[in-house]
Amino acid sequence: MENLHHIVVVGGGAGGLELVTSLGNKLGRKGKARISLVDAGLTHVWKPLLHEVASGSLDASANEINYRAHARKHHYEFQLGRMSGLDRANKAIVIAPFRDEEGQEVVPERRLHYDTLVIAVGSTANDFGTPGAQDHCLFLDSLKQARRFHNLMLNAFLRKNHEALQGQPHALNISIIGAGATGVELAAELRLASRELPIYGMNHLKSSDVSISVIEAADRILPALPGRLSAAATRELERQKVKVLTGQPVSEVRENSLIMKDGTELPSEMTIWAAGIKAPPFLAELDGLETNRGNQLLVEQTLKTTKDADIFAFGDCAACPQPESDRPVPPRAQAAHQQADALFKTLCNRLEGKEAVPFVYNDHGSLINFSKYTTVGNLMGNLSGRSMYIEGKVARLFYVSLYRMHQVALHGFLRTGVIWLMDKISRAMQPRLKLH
Ligand SMILES: Cc1cc2nc3c(=O)[nH]c(=O)nc-3n(C[C@H](O)[C@H](O)[C@H](O)COP(=O)(O)OP(=O)(O)OC[C@H]3O[C@@H](n4cnc5c(N)ncnc54)[C@H](O)[C@@H]3O)c2cc1C
Repeated sequence: MENLHHIVVVGGGAGGLELVTSLGNKLGRKGKARISLVDAGLTHVWKPLLHEVASGSLDASANEINYRAHARKHHYEFQLGRMSGLDRANKAIVIAPFRDEEGQEVVPERRLHYDTLVIAVGSTANDFGTPGAQDHCLFLDSLKQARRFHNLMLNAFLRKNHEALQGQPHALNISIIGAGATGVELAAELRLASRELPIYGMNHLKSSDVSISVIEAADRILPALPGRLSAAATRELERQKVKVLTGQPVSEVRENSLIMKDGTELPSEMTIWAAGIKAPPFLAELDGLETNRGNQLLVEQTLKTTKDADIFAFGDCAACPQPESDRPVPPRAQAAHQQADALFKTLCNRLEGKEAVPFVYNDHGSLINFSKYTTVGNLMGNLSGRSMYIEGKVARLFYVSLYRMHQVALHGFLRTGVIWLMDKISRAMQPRLKLH
């Protein structure tokens, strides 16, 4: 074990967990390399599910993977902790002390030696320094934050239901800042929650008492996607009585309101920040590795960092160039999934002294899911490069397949089939919304 080449992957998210699973199955199992995963949390939930966890339409515990159990099954080691530094000269990462919920130190600061290091620590919301955002907004960067949001939402509904019962004013204003895919999909999930909750006893509060607004600084929602998609999404949100405000930058967030750039004040008792992302700030101080303004590590097309041949980075935390484009690979689960595949091949080749595999992003299109109502999207034709607009059940099928592909990468086809069946059964047995 001591002499084996040690591959350390930091971050067990959409990309990192897929990579470490393939490496464990191929190299760890046969004793060809030692594979370790370091993650700040004990469990993995696929990030694109977080808005469903927040609204209660998905029970996260049924979709949570325990790293230790998964590591044992797939022949890699798991280390719980948050990477905080790097010592390139001695080829070691620094892992910050691990503390329990009361702040007591459980494990002190450690160092972990690597031969090859892969950084896949994802991204967090970027509030662009907007005054009040950190104090008064909710974020959806982690399972913990999604669960906190869910509890606050249930309490807000309960409070407003009681006020309605007392004959008091009881309007609830929820604002989502940022109309990218996350903001738009969250709005639809929240509308569903506001319609379903009265079924479960909060029958004094009506869905029409809950005002949901999506606020976007650009002149249309989903600004990064084709105009046709954005028009279809706007129509769908309006159909669901979600207010869509475009061309309206927020300049300040207050406890119960938003101040817009033109000085208007909008009431908002719950505000969610979903506008833009940045990579974790510690990456910008990582022993001389190059980063961009969004803290993303600069990598070559092989996903190797520009300053160190033994360190790779991918997923949201890396800026990977694309041939014939001045934009890096977009920060999406789809990209992280494809990069995990390419890096797996590169790391296997590396052990045999062979060439690295250059990564080319293959955009399969974009799909926006409006909870149980509908799905709209565009699929890219592989050969023609043209996109095809789809909606409804077919679009929903493609949308769900992205998560199923992630599950197949982590569990294999057979187990994914069993999980799918169990999901169906538990959805039939349990209330449509998580009520606690
Ligand atoms: C609500 C929501 C909906 C989305 N929907 C879609 C969608 O429909 N389609 C799509 O393509 N993309 C979607 N995305 C984007 C997608 O989730 C990300 O692009 C994808 O998860 C990036 O994968 P990753 O592996 O780079 O990082 P992540 O999946 O974020 O994983 C990062 C991992 O690193 C760990 N970590 C972080 N810092 C440290 C540290 N210092 N030390 C150790 N571990 C650390 C974290 O605990 C986490 O496990 C969505 C995102 C959100 C928030």
